[in-house]
Amino acid sequence: MFFRDIVGQQEVIGQLIKEAQAGTVPHALLFCGPEGTGKLQTAIAFSRYLLCRDKGTGTESCGTCPSCVKMDKLVHPDLHFVFPVINKSKTAGRSTISDDEIGIWREFVLENRYFGFEDWMNAIDAENKQARIFVTESESITSKLSLKSVEGGYKIVIIWHAEKMKAECANSLLKLLEEPPAGTVFILVSDTPEQMLETIVSRTQRIEFKRIPIAEIEVSLTGPGYGLDSGNARKIAHFSGGSWLKAVKALRINAESEEFLDYFMQLMRFTYARKLKELKSWSENMAAGGREWQKRFLEYCQRMIRENFICNFHEPELNYMTEREEQFSVRFAPYVNEKNIIGLTNVISDAQRDIEQNVNSKMIFFDLSLKIIMLMKQ
Ligand SMILES: [Zn+2]
Repeated sequence: MFFRDIVGQQEVIGQLIKEAQAGTVPHALLFCGPEGTGKLQTAIAFSRYLLCRDKGTGTESCGTCPSCVKMDKLVHPDLHFVFPVINKSKTAGRSTISDDEIGIWREFVLENRYFGFEDWMNAIDAENKQARIFVTESESITSKLSLKSVEGGYKIVIIWHAEKMKAECANSLLKLLEEPPAGTVFILVSDTPEQMLETIVSRTQRIEFKRIPIAEIEVSLTGPGYGLDSGNARKIAHFSGGSWLKAVKALRINAESEEFLDYFMQLMRFTYARKLKELKSWSENMAAGGREWQKRFLEYCQRMIRENFICNFHEPELNYMTEREEQFSVRFAPYVNEKNIIGLTNVISDAQRDIEQNVNSKMIFFDLSLKIIMLMKQ
């Protein structure tokens, strides 16, 4: 991750570079602002910049020095990550710490770049358990910082979702935050700094990440790696509300939704016309797909039902649909109304649950279509 990979945030990046060049980097920074605005990504790019040995007076890391090469894999020995984890090592006599999950973390960060707390929870299979930064973490940080930096430069600790620190952990870090060993930089990252201890916040220099201007998101979406046409880019940028994460997620939805829309339109047309024979072969088609694919299709159906219901309120800024989806909705939306919206959502939820429980999927989809026939009459 380089500064150039970050969408927007030029002002913040400019300020960080200036402080690095002047040698006035604060020993504790707090990056805060809404999810999806690039806080963690900027923290990583800034770490790369601070650790780069060959940047000279430039405003970007060199990308080729030994330090940059280590940063490509997030394995630089002077960069430490702290992030919420699920406590699962009670038997080991201590709570789980970030180092226990560092392999998954590195892979996840490198693969996704922009992601949210929920995405990380899914990555570590948190299910309903609470992810926190436990007290043992502060001991681990203290012992890491008590050693000299391996490469002779800065030692950096990035604490992602710092508000998830248990109070015992936060309290035992206070002294370290106030008077860290020379050359140490803490970068605390949080979407909700108001949930952090005031004693922690007051020891940091706060840097606000604002929502990314819609126009900048639009430009990035038409650029290399995405290459959207300007119509779609504008739509997604608008929908993103200034979060690059939300824009990227909308893109992922787009890719598969072409195929899903075809199946969704068939389902709705056949149920409307009560074509049972066609619905039977439609169910067979659906059953031929993999279980994960079936789950994503049902998630898509939920989204389409919701979007079409919202369509009836004629508030386009609440809607996000592709052009093809919109064309279909012009006629379809009136059939999703307050009489059947809950029923439709429920029968799809039932199908989602049954898929999870490995019920015969041909039956699930045929059964779903029969229930929709009844509901569409309402
Ligand atoms: Zn370098």
